Order: sequence, then structure tokens, then C-alpha cells
Amino acid sequence: MTVVAIVGRPNVGKSTLFNRICGRQQALVDDLPGVTRDRNYARVNWGGKAFTLIDTGGFVTSDQSTLEEHTGQQVLLAMEEADIVLFVADARSGLHPEDPAIVEKLRRTAKPVMVVINKVDGAERNVHVSEFFQLGVEKLYPVSAAHGFGFGELLEELTRNIPERDEASEAVEPHEVRIAIVGRPNVGKSTLVNSILKVPRVIVSEVPGTTRDAIDTAFERDGQRYVLIDTAGIRRKGRTWQKLEKVSVLKALQSIERSHVAVLMVDAVEGLTDQDLHIAGYIQERFRGCVVVINKWDAVEKDAKQVKRFMTEVRDRLRFMPFAPILTISALSGQRVSKVLPAALEVFREYNRRITTGVVNQALERALQRHEPPRVSGRPLKFYYVTQTSVRPPTFVIFCNRPDSVHFSYQRFLNNHFREAFDLQKTPVRLIFRERKRGPDR
Ligand code: GDP
Repeated sequence: MTVVAIVGRPNVGKSTLFNRICGRQQALVDDLPGVTRDRNYARVNWGGKAFTLIDTGGFVTSDQSTLEEHTGQQVLLAMEEADIVLFVADARSGLHPEDPAIVEKLRRTAKPVMVVINKVDGAERNVHVSEFFQLGVEKLYPVSAAHGFGFGELLEELTRNIPERDEASEAVEPHEVRIAIVGRPNVGKSTLVNSILKVPRVIVSEVPGTTRDAIDTAFERDGQRYVLIDTAGIRRKGRTWQKLEKVSVLKALQSIERSHVAVLMVDAVEGLTDQDLHIAGYIQERFRGCVVVINKWDAVEKDAKQVKRFMTEVRDRLRFMPFAPILTISALSGQRVSKVLPAALEVFREYNRRITTGVVNQALERALQRHEPPRVSGRPLKFYYVTQTSVRPPTFVIFCNRPDSVHFSYQRFLNNHFREAFDLQKTPVRLIFRERKRGPDR
């Protein structure tokens, strides 16, 4: 996954630029409760090229830190995590005394740094732009994030070196389960990884992951091959900003991208936090399988009423992924750690399930009988035919007369109906609506 980081002083328009580049992506997650606030990263598709965009300004805390610390942290984050850096400056206020030093630091990493001059609107166009050549770059990218000017060229250049398909998960052996263990700092990820790997296993190999510094651990257990993603990243400790909560979200995203099943670890003592929901939202958005593991179960009161309240709350806040099994474990004592891999394997099996076309179409017919699709501006919404086009997750293309008018709640109804009909209780299912003018004779 290519990571593009936006860096710049406050008020240069980083988040407007961020929103402009992600465009529709943002709207997509609006339906997910709890995951929209505070979103500083997004997956972007532009002309068949995909990358993850991060607004580094949103990842560092601005409250107490000085301006210098603020951008300094962004620079650190970009240097560590990004493949391409967009440095944003403000055409209205002109070159800031701090800008050259920031750019200089960024360029020391030898990563491509593109200097974007924002707020180049209307008559003011080009007023201050040329002075930014003092930054020592060959090319400037003047844009107006507010008005959308200049983005074609910027994105063209940005995506030039990104490979066409970036989906590592498509290329791997179908029978190897790729598992990402994700969660906030101190939730117990490394304790769990150590505990899983402690049990005797047939082979253990450490294979470089696709991200810089990432090391995956491959092993076989009970005849099944597993890969734990970026075990090195999980166990590596002590970097200044690994303490930064939001950076851990970014780490999680990188691992999720390469996984089939994400094990989302939640701290039983602290309960489900907003950051946990951010990660869950991303798992759902990327259509990965998920097992929710509530860790440190040894450290909470196990009064029956409290347990019930806790579980109800977790289920409720994760209601956008009802298919994710929930386990309670203690990584420290090893209690129920042995359930984690089998749970992930069960999810993976459903994740790869194929349903015959006849059976899928019967299910569609039953769904339509149970719940007639709502009319759209007085005209009927017609569904003609459905076929499964891929696995991981099971993906169904439904042909209908007005694909853009299928209301979210009806999509959800069909999704739940399919999962029930095909006994796909533990995997996400993806529905794609396509246009077809006339129905078959029936
Ligand atoms: P990571 O940052 O997610 O990798 O978290 P660590 O695995 O380093 O764990 C953070 C702290 O939580 C350590 O002090 C662990 O000993 C502790 N811890 C991990 N799992 C458990 C658990 O199941 N119960 C309790 N009580 N503490 C745990």
C-alpha cells in the first residue's frame, strides 16, 4: 500500500486538500456510526491507482505543542510512514520563514516531496507562487483545495509511480490465512503474538512484508498455514510516537490492507474506545473478515450483570459488523488464547465461500417477496438477476434497473438476507448493483 502524507503548518488548508483528494471516499463511511469523526486517513482511488492518504496534522496533538513541535512531529511521521510527501504551503500568506527548514528536513529522507501551493484562487492566482521556488524544488503544484483547481495535474504526477494493482491479498496462496493483529498501544498485541507462537509449530519463517521494516511470521498448525502480519512492528517498542494513539491506527491500516482476517484487540479494562471504532470502521470499509478479541479479561470484575452490559455495549457499537465473532481472552495467562486462530480460520472459510448461481437467485427471489423494494420517485425498483463474481469476501453483483437508487437500508436488508440464506454468519458480504435495462422473461 502506498502511503501519501500531507504535511504543513496549521491553516494552510491541509484538511480541505485532504477532503478534496478523497472526495467520495469520505461520503462512503458516513453511514458507519462512530467512525467518521476525526478521520485523518482515507483510501483513495484515482484512475485505477489506489493509495492511502494521511493528514499528518491530524495525527499529532496541537494543544500544548509549539508550532515547531507540531510540524516537527508531522515531519517525523511522514518520514517514517509515507512513500510520498505532499508539503502544503499557503499562496495567500506567501513563503513562511519556517517553510524552507521543513522542506529541507523532508528531502533528507530521499522520498519524493511534492510542494503544493494551496489557496491559488481566481484573481490571486500566481501572485505568490513563484517565491516558493526558493524552497529549491523544480516543480510547484498550485491548487485551490476550496475550488478544486489544479488537482488533475497533482494526482497525475502523484500516482505516476504507483502500481496499477496494489492488492497484495489477491496474489497470495488461497489456503494461507493472513491475519493482522491490530489495536491500540498496550492492548496486549505483542503478548498475544508471543503466546500464539509459543505453542509448538511445524514451520516458522520470517518473511519480509511489503511495507518497509515489516516482518510477517508464517507457520503451520494442524495442517493449516497461517501468516501473522508484521509481527516485528507489533513487538517493536519505544519509538517516540508509538505512544501517539492515532499513529497506532495508521499502523493498523497498513496491516489490515494485507490481511484476510483482522483480529481487533480491545482492552477489557478500558472498554471499546473511539480509536477501536476507527479501526473497526476501516476493517469494514476494506471488506476484511474480523474477530474481535477482548483482552485482559482476567483484570475485570466478572459479575454476571456487568459482563452482560459490557458485551451488549460492544455488540451495539459494533453493529455495523454483526458478522464479527467476539472472544474474551487473557493473553497474559493464556486463557482462551487457543481459540483465536480457530476463530480466524472459521471466518476465513466463510470468507472464501462460493454459492451456486441457482441458489443465489432463489435467495434473491425470496428476499424480494419478503420485502418489496421501495419505489423510487413513484417508479418500481426492479431486481433481475444476481451472480457471485468473487470471494474474499463473497461478492455478488445484482442487476437491476436503477442501481444508484437502492436505498442504504434496502442494501442492508439484502446483505443480511444473503448472509442468513447462505449461512455466511461470520464474514462480510459485498453487494454490487449494476444496471440492466430489461429483465429476463419472468
Ligand atoms: P501492545 O502494545 O498491544 O503490544 O501491548 P503489550 O502486549 O505490550 O501489553 C501491554 C501491557 O498489558 C503489558 O504490561 C502486558 O503484560 C499487559 N497485558 C497484556 N495482556 C494482558 C492480559 O490478558 N491481562 C492483563 N492483566 N494484562 C495484560
